[in-house]
Amino acid sequence: MNVYDSARMADVLAPLGYAQAEGPEDADMVILNTCHIREKAADKVFSELGRLRALKTGRGGRMIIAVAGCVAQAEGEEILRRAPFVDIVLGPQTYHRLPEMVAKASRAAGKNGNGGAVLDTEFPLEPKFDFLPEARAEGASAFLSVQEGCDKFCTFCVVPYTRGAEYSRPAAAILAEARRLVAQGVVEITLLGQNVNGWHGEAPDGAVWSFGHLLREVAGIDGLEHIRYTTSHPRDMDDGLIAAHADLGKLMPFLHLPLQSGSDRILDAMNRRHDRRFYLDLVDRLKAARPDLALSSDFIVGFPGETDSDFRDTLDLVRRVGFVNTYSFKYSARPGTPAAAMPDQVDEAVKDARLAELQQLLSDQTRAFNHASVGKVMRVLLDRPGRRPGQLVGRTPFMQPVHVDDVGEHRGRVVDVRITEVHPNSLAGRAVDSERICA
Ligand code: SAH
Ligand code: SF4
Repeated sequence: MNVYDSARMADVLAPLGYAQAEGPEDADMVILNTCHIREKAADKVFSELGRLRALKTGRGGRMIIAVAGCVAQAEGEEILRRAPFVDIVLGPQTYHRLPEMVAKASRAAGKNGNGGAVLDTEFPLEPKFDFLPEARAEGASAFLSVQEGCDKFCTFCVVPYTRGAEYSRPAAAILAEARRLVAQGVVEITLLGQNVNGWHGEAPDGAVWSFGHLLREVAGIDGLEHIRYTTSHPRDMDDGLIAAHADLGKLMPFLHLPLQSGSDRILDAMNRRHDRRFYLDLVDRLKAARPDLALSSDFIVGFPGETDSDFRDTLDLVRRVGFVNTYSFKYSARPGTPAAAMPDQVDEAVKDARLAELQQLLSDQTRAFNHASVGKVMRVLLDRPGRRPGQLVGRTPFMQPVHVDDVGEHRGRVVDVRITEVHPNSLAGRAVDSERICA
């Protein structure tokens, strides 16, 4: 979502004459778009700010530094205190106001060098989407935010505090943005939301659609070939959405469905509102709808009170379900969340050992899946140039990166690719067309 937000900030700033620079050295303004989800991500912001300070000082202060995103939302005042050379601090819901903020910051800089920093971390009543200019596509694959914020309040998570309450964009605005992207050459759209499948929006006819219905409408757009969505919550996977996986050929057979833990006790303490049985049943229903569906997930190890037996339950569930390309993290205590104040915080060394064990199992599963892909023909969107001349890189329906030689002219297209090799971090393949020509 930060990638999407950054692109939209660029759209907002384009009429002021701003365009993307090669790096901070060439920039008049630097915006750090930040993530607060774990402590490590938040810490990075301050180390990055240290580097930017040196750059700004070297230029006699002639540079605007802005901090955007969830760290700004959560630690706005603290940022200005620790890094007074920052000119603008803005939260994830106010970036449509960037032009006024930049004007104010420039005026303040003109007057007294620095000082008069702008802080805007409000949650405005009117959604920012109503004020953003039309999205510009870059390349053949695009993100489209449909839902933001969260009301679920998992006990470990800052999102409900930093992104705010759950909000679903109206269907008409989403469909219009999707059509505009496709008109600009986009063939793959990933619908985004913190709980994307919790989307329920006002339809053009005044009815309320669920997310499955929205997917059907998006799939009706001519020229759009692939649809993905992320991130979904198991509790919001309703029958209509499961049926969409059976019916919509454009919907990729790959689903990121975070589980966090395989222990009922820990799931309960996390306030995930489901147990392991619910997740296993859900996976069965999804696979009945779409037998080739591959699943990815998020896991947290070392949540407060997690015992070795809880952790074994997680490993057991991972073995039963089988995942690919999964993310796993050590629990990170976030200020202000209920879990941060829970007793029995788990020792860092124990977290390290559990993470290593879980990641070993998950990477074995991904490797096995990649090896089983060899020989198969997959629809691949080749959207990036590779290192070799004539080579393109794309992703299989299951998000595996794949390198294909001698297909330079197919950039931005979906091509049938036969997978031929597995490398440590990617696959290699051959366009099926070229096989026919060679034969
Ligand atoms: N809405 C999604 C997740 C959004 S946050 C869901 O409900 O599943 C993305 C991921 O970051 C989470 O799935 C979780 O695995 C991880 N995460 C969030 N807070 C964390 C914390 N305090 N410590 C470690 N990982 C965390
Ligand atoms: Fe955070 Fe996801 Fe839970 Fe919402 S549902 S609180 S975003 S982990």
